[in-house]
Amino acid sequence: MFEVKKLHGKGKRLRDYTSVTNEEAIENILRKADELQGSSFAHVNSTSFGGGVAEILHNLVPLMRDVGLDARWFVVEGLEEFFNVTKTFHNALQGNEELKLSENMKRLYVETNRENARDLDLSAFDYVLIHDPQPAPLIEFYEKKTPWIWRCHIDLSDPNPEFWNFLRRFVERYDRYIFHLPEYVQTNLNREKVVIMPPSIDPLSEKNRELSDSEVLDILERFDIDPDRPILTQVARFDPWKGVFDAVEVYRRVKERIPEVQLLLVGVMAHDDPEGWVYFEKTLRNIGEDYDVKVLTNLIGVHAREVNAFQRASTVVLQMSIREGFGLTVTEAMWKGKPVVGRAVGGIKFQITDGKTGFLVGDVDEAVQRVLYLIKHPDVAEKLGEKAKERVEKEFLITKHLERYIDLLSSV
Ligand code: UDP
Repeated sequence: MFEVKKLHGKGKRLRDYTSVTNEEAIENILRKADELQGSSFAHVNSTSFGGGVAEILHNLVPLMRDVGLDARWFVVEGLEEFFNVTKTFHNALQGNEELKLSENMKRLYVETNRENARDLDLSAFDYVLIHDPQPAPLIEFYEKKTPWIWRCHIDLSDPNPEFWNFLRRFVERYDRYIFHLPEYVQTNLNREKVVIMPPSIDPLSEKNRELSDSEVLDILERFDIDPDRPILTQVARFDPWKGVFDAVEVYRRVKERIPEVQLLLVGVMAHDDPEGWVYFEKTLRNIGEDYDVKVLTNLIGVHAREVNAFQRASTVVLQMSIREGFGLTVTEAMWKGKPVVGRAVGGIKFQITDGKTGFLVGDVDEAVQRVLYLIKHPDVAEKLGEKAKERVEKEFLITKHLERYIDLLSSV
């Protein structure tokens, strides 16, 4: 296990957020945090880079420190085989029924956690929060004296039972289980320990802060994107669940009617995702020689500010995921006042109210219709975007998230 010390949001102050939320809300959070002053709080996950959890922790941990918690963030380490196994867990828990759990996989999974437990005494912390399945077994290897919380960031609406029942053995030992949505709560868990808490985005981070038009244009120019033609964007890891091929299909069908349309596929390669490379390669082959599709990854200099600019430059943002734990990319686009066309699954369905704060679709056909409509009706697009932003402002900003965590810690 290693500690993440280079936090993107290092030095953040809660009071800076009065520019995006009201002062009273900030004072209220500070008041609530009073009783937690000096409490040590360990977050553990499996990557410091790529994906929603890392994105949140880079900004949330510094804010927790600012309000007086001694918050720290640790990442479990393992060999490639470990991450292959945990990716299989991820796929099975999100509903792949065909996957089988072998004794070998179980052993590798548990033993890697045992080895990680040797590196750090988590029982010395006042609160421990374990994110996702990868480090869930850690709890087995400590004498638990303080509250341990498990947080699930994936779509658990229909898990492969073999994998869930194995994971459940560890999960049940925790004092609280946090899920993004009520529909992810498995019936065979103790209801009294369940907490529903959506994740959040940071409006002041490099990913989400306001950008000037010239900053956006500069970035588009760097990647040879034409600002005067319609832009469809999907931001997602290269992962079969993200519906990348469907996004390409939507674009192709839209292009039959509006030939000048462009597609940006923004995809980061996460450290804990060995499958990503294979899927990246497949995506490139699927796209072939169409240079109006830009594949924009961290490998060619796409980082938070670039993602921000691509989202802001979009005419329509797509999220064609087949499963989606929450979909912070959707939240990010909504915050930027963009109309999102997303498949009606998991967190996308929860964030978007169809026809009010975006469009929910069942398949490629419907997505094509909605995208064509939005390109032709910029006034509607703008209205949806405004409402989308309001929804995020109310429910999914980091300040609200911090407050929800403080409430939780005070209650366990
Ligand atoms: N992300 C990014 N670049 C990419 C793909 C994703 O910066 O190419 C970020 C994205 O902006 C979001 C997070 O990674 O903040 C993805 O979170 P989400 O909940 O959408 O999905 P996850 O990857 O956790 O399944």
